[in-house]
Amino acid sequence: MQQAVILTDEHIAALYPHLLKDLRVITIPAGEDSKSITTIARLTKELLEIGATRDTLLIGMGGGVVTDITGFLAAVFMRGIRCGFVPTTLLAMADAAVGGKNGVNNGMYKNMIGTIRQPEFILYDIQLLQTLPQEEWSNGFAEVIKYGCIFDAGLFDELAQHDLAWYMQNNDALNKVIERCVAWKNRTVAEDEHEKGIRKLLNFGHTAGHAIEKLYALPHGKAVAIGMMIACHISEQQTGLDAATTQQLEAALQRYHLPVHMAIDTAKVMALLQTDKKRKDDSINYILLQDKGKAVIHPLRLPVIEKALASL
Ligand code: NAD
Ligand code: ZN
Repeated sequence: MQQAVILTDEHIAALYPHLLKDLRVITIPAGEDSKSITTIARLTKELLEIGATRDTLLIGMGGGVVTDITGFLAAVFMRGIRCGFVPTTLLAMADAAVGGKNGVNNGMYKNMIGTIRQPEFILYDIQLLQTLPQEEWSNGFAEVIKYGCIFDAGLFDELAQHDLAWYMQNNDALNKVIERCVAWKNRTVAEDEHEKGIRKLLNFGHTAGHAIEKLYALPHGKAVAIGMMIACHISEQQTGLDAATTQQLEAALQRYHLPVHMAIDTAKVMALLQTDKKRKDDSINYILLQDKGKAVIHPLRLPVIEKALASL
């Protein structure tokens, strides 16, 4: 018998009881700490206890934490069951729910255990963002601005002209921006699902970003914002990026209440970078900008990264 099970976090379950009331629901505590193998073990047990089978459809309703866990749990439960997503944060709508990457963290190491596996569907309803706190809107815009930086100078300019408050009031404009990010991600994933080439570009801001996220317990979006600024400063030295582009990015991030700088412990960041998934021997395939809307994969030796981080 087919049955659907909703996986959500406790925060969303409390906000949307009317949507969930007649459904089978399992929950995780809200927040990044739930992205662990312990959660997967607990949820596996819970699914078995409520009678889930190979025919169960697992639906993740929530932000990127919920969609990453749902995708991974569905990939490994009974060697694979179907899943779908109902993203409820801007970050998940524009990025995390799309593309099939899923997974959990292993202590300090982000997304180290996971698979690439596509959901059956992603259901969009931006009305769900009405309850989203402003800080989470900001976090979502970090990934949205990322798409402008990597692929789409027009999107970047549009975002730089407006600000957070404007998009929070303009559903049509917001829908178009989400559609544009999803289109870029789909195009990239269709060409390179397993990240052998062009998909690596989506990691812009995420190399130092992931290390900072874990070391300083920052939300993903904020860490990516700082990571993008670091990548721009390195780009100025390595690809000749115009300093004016770095300044434009800084101004744009500030319009969405995102941080652009923080004092970091270079040695600790470097220690985490040694384990980066993009590392090869003593180099990391760093994603740099050549220009607004044009990212490139640029191998950088670890001492060069260390010197750049120390000089920030
Ligand atoms: P999140 O899932 O932790 O959500 C942020 C907070 O918002 C949580 O407290 C949540 O309960 C709350 N929330 C969610 N929806 C809400 C709503 N509609 N109203 C009120 N509150 C709501 O985090 P996130 O920022 O959505 O996602 C970040 C995660 O996504 C990170 O773990 C990151 O690694 C992952 N990610 C994955 C990919 C991918 O390709 N798989 C891409 C980008 C990010
Ligand atoms: Zn991200």
